[in-house]
Amino acid sequence: MAKIKIDSKRCKACNLCIVFCPFGHIKKGHSLNKVGYKPVVFLEKKGKACTGCCACAIICPEAAIEVYK
Ligand code: SF4
Ligand code: SF4
Repeated sequence: MAKIKIDSKRCKACNLCIVFCPFGHIKKGHSLNKVGYKPVVFLEKKGKACTGCCACAIICPEAAIEVYK
């Protein structure tokens, strides 16, 4: 099963990955990082596993997402 890792220090909360994940596995976060952004979080929806499609990682302008397959 694939999964992603989001680097909360690099994330600038632009939310592009939220828009581009075809399954809605990435959500807005609520905790501030050291530079004042609220990094997104990976929350896999029940019944729709992350496919490791890499759309989130490719679109991220901060290269903050790693995909593991
Ligand atoms: S790898 Fe694909 S399915 Fe998995 S979280 Fe990223 S965009 Fe969504
Ligand atoms: S695309 Fe990258 S910088 Fe933008 S919210 Fe997602 S992880 Fe953060």
